[in-house]
Amino acid sequence: MSALVDLSKSKRIVIKIGSALLVDKANGHVRHQWLETLGADIAALRARGQEVIIVSSGAIAVGRRHLNLSSGKLRLEESQAAAATGMVRLAHAYQEVLVTHDLTLAQVLITLDDSENRRRYINARNTLQTLLSLGAVPLINENDTVATDEIRFGDNDRLAARVAAMVSADMLVVLSHMDGLYDRDPTGNDNAIHIPLVKGELTPEIEAMAGALKSADGTGGMVTKLAAAKIALGAGAGMVIANGTEEHPIQRIEAGSLCTWFVPTASPKSARKLWIAGSLKPNGSLIVDEGALGALQSGKSLLPAGITAIKGEFDRGDAITVCTASGAEIARGLVAYSAEDARKIIGKKTSEIESILGYRRRDEMVHRDDMVLS
Ligand code: GLU
Repeated sequence: MSALVDLSKSKRIVIKIGSALLVDKANGHVRHQWLETLGADIAALRARGQEVIIVSSGAIAVGRRHLNLSSGKLRLEESQAAAATGMVRLAHAYQEVLVTHDLTLAQVLITLDDSENRRRYINARNTLQTLLSLGAVPLINENDTVATDEIRFGDNDRLAARVAAMVSADMLVVLSHMDGLYDRDPTGNDNAIHIPLVKGELTPEIEAMAGALKSADGTGGMVTKLAAAKIALGAGAGMVIANGTEEHPIQRIEAGSLCTWFVPTASPKSARKLWIAGSLKPNGSLIVDEGALGALQSGKSLLPAGITAIKGEFDRGDAITVCTASGAEIARGLVAYSAEDARKIIGKKTSEIESILGYRRRDEMVHRDDMVLS
């Protein structure tokens, strides 16, 4: 099997769980038995050394019962209140399941702004990277309680894809009650043809297939799933849409269940580097000495010690160019410190950063993952 349609080959996997899978519609309770099998599947991925991030819906579906809200459509403030009480229960349910496998859960609530505002994006990315490196399993949902209608994702399909892009995941697993993409609505239509594989990009024909298919319980449908696929492919991540209703939903995918796989043409790393090199306008420059030049050319990160001057004004997370003393551009990247702070620590040793700035952040001024050589 190609590594691109094989979960066991992915290093960093984002798993999106739809409300309809997690919450029993009849009584609004978490489907514990099902969740236990998902937990076992996640533990099996972790045991292989794969990193896992869960993006879960269901806060509103669980919370509304506890607040005795009606079964109809909720007003925005009601669903925000429902999310606040539901999220606690949701996190608790995941925690109980993962702890039996000695896994630590870490809750992260994200807003649209966190994925669009550069500084917040970098902050969220760093936190998630740190959690993964410490062996935790992040549990992410939209911060529904504070996100207003205009500034929310509203569906976790796209949120999960943004998270996958944010952490350079190589695979996004979207579990819902649909087993993938069909050329037309398969409900009551035996002639509908299942599409097992989409390569590279979404053609207008593929997008047309999504139609206006809506999920019965969650907010997403095939339309938001394809929007997620677009984001994932653009970030170099693969994606699979699978039916997660049955127990052991991840094992089932590995055993070859009916799914739609989306295969990217680029890797997460090259997609990210393309984005850094091509789409961002640099706000300033870092001038480096010969030693740093050599280090960068051999694939190392840029440390404050090798920088001789700072030009321009920029914030942490902004794009900058790296230049030689004669002004030749040698790289582009995202800088880890503001221009103001960077000026204070250039030429200094990494061990001195904390005493100069009064806080400790990254050792590198520009990390090699955030840099593209010209
Ligand atoms: N964030 C919402 C919740 O947890 C769900 C959004 C979705 O269904 O995609 O209830």
